[in-house]
Formats: sequence, C-alpha cells, structure tokens
Amino acid sequence: MSAQIKPVIKVIEDRCVNCHVCISVCPVKYCIDGSGDKVAINHELCIGCGACIRACTHKAREGVDDLDAFLSGLGRGEKMIAVVAPAVAARLPGKALRLNGWLKSRGMAAIFDVAFGAELTVESYLKHIKAKGPPLVIAQPCPAIVSYIETFQPELLPYLAPADSPMLHTIKAAREFRPELRGAQDSRDLPLRGQAPRIRRHGPWGLQRDPG
Ligand code: SF4
Ligand code: SF4
Repeated sequence: MSAQIKPVIKVIEDRCVNCHVCISVCPVKYCIDGSGDKVAINHELCIGCGACIRACTHKAREGVDDLDAFLSGLGRGEKMIAVVAPAVAARLPGKALRLNGWLKSRGMAAIFDVAFGAELTVESYLKHIKAKGPPLVIAQPCPAIVSYIETFQPELLPYLAPADSPMLHTIKAAREFRPELRGAQDSRDLPLRGQAPRIRRHGPWGLQRDPG
C-alpha cells in the first residue's frame, strides 16, 4: 500500500446514525468499521469511489478536498494554474466560462482544459499498444479503479495502461511549453464537488507511469 494515500472520505460523526447503509453499498466493505457507535473508515483500504456519499441519506459522509487551502493560496497571491475538467459544463450549465473569468479575476496564472491532456493520454495508449501488443489494457484515469487494483487485485497491475493521466499530461505540457508557469501549483484537487464521477482524484499520482 502506498504511503501517499490520503483520506478522501470523512464521516461526520454528529450525523451518523450507524445504519450501515454505507457498508451495504461499499464495494470494499472491510474499509468501514461498523463495530462502534459510529462507523469509521480505514483510509488505507478505501478506494474513494464515493458510493457511500451518495447512499448516506443522513449526509454523514463527505469528500475531503483542499478547497480551503486552494482559496487561501489564491488569496495570498500564490502562483497557480487551473486544470479544468470538461464536466464543469454539466455542473455549471451555461456558466462554465464564467468560472474561468472568476479564476482569472482571483489571480489564476493560467487555465487549461484537461480534455487536451486526454488527447495526449489516448496517444500514449496507442503508442503502448503498437509497441508492446499487450493482451489487455486497463485505462487508468479512474483513480478508484487504480486504487482498487493496487490494493485488492495487484495481479492486474501489469495491465494498467503505462500512460500519464489526462491531468498529468496537461500539467506536463503546460510546464514544458509555458516555462513561465514552472513552479506554479496545479489545482488538481480543486473541488467542484460532484464534478467528477469518482472522489479519489489524487490517489494514483504515485502510480503515474511514463509511456513505454
Ligand atoms: S450510511 Fe451514513 S448514517 Fe448510516 S452508518 Fe453510514 S455514515 Fe452513518
Ligand atoms: S468511498 Fe467507496 S470504498 Fe471508500 S468507504 Fe465509501 S463506498 Fe467504501
């Protein structure tokens, strides 16, 4: 298990009624300890799929994000770049571009569309398939899938696509072709909550592989 795994789900104990619905929907099960008066999460085993957040009708589950640190950094004038997912158009219908305007007004150094990085990831897949002819390729942009394989199905690790994620491709391209942005923090954990279908967004950073 990677020591870099950070908690991405938390239990708000005041709201938890110990109904165990979260356990019933959790694909891992034993990452949730239901032996006490409130449930507790074993973060080392949680794959961050977010199923428990949707299932908990008592709003006792939340994703852990770095919104406060992000806003504080912007407020202090830290140099940052934003990598925005196309899903923002669904979360903010008709207003997605206003998010870019707001980010710029708060001092964001640059804003990139992660769809660009997705094109680079596809190219990495094609290069890998052409060069190695693997019998199976498991796409890796879903951090929950990567965490699940890493933790519970390590025999599948050789089949994970040896490619950077769209996010990392975008960041690498930005730093290569916009040298003035080197040293800026990327806002990869900028939490437009619910924007992404999975919660775990940072888990696979330790698993990024160079296209080979
Ligand atoms: S579903 Fe919600 S209220 Fe029920 S045990 Fe899980 S966290 Fe607590
Ligand atoms: S995020 Fe997924 S794996 Fe983690 S506790 Fe919730 S349901 Fe289980």
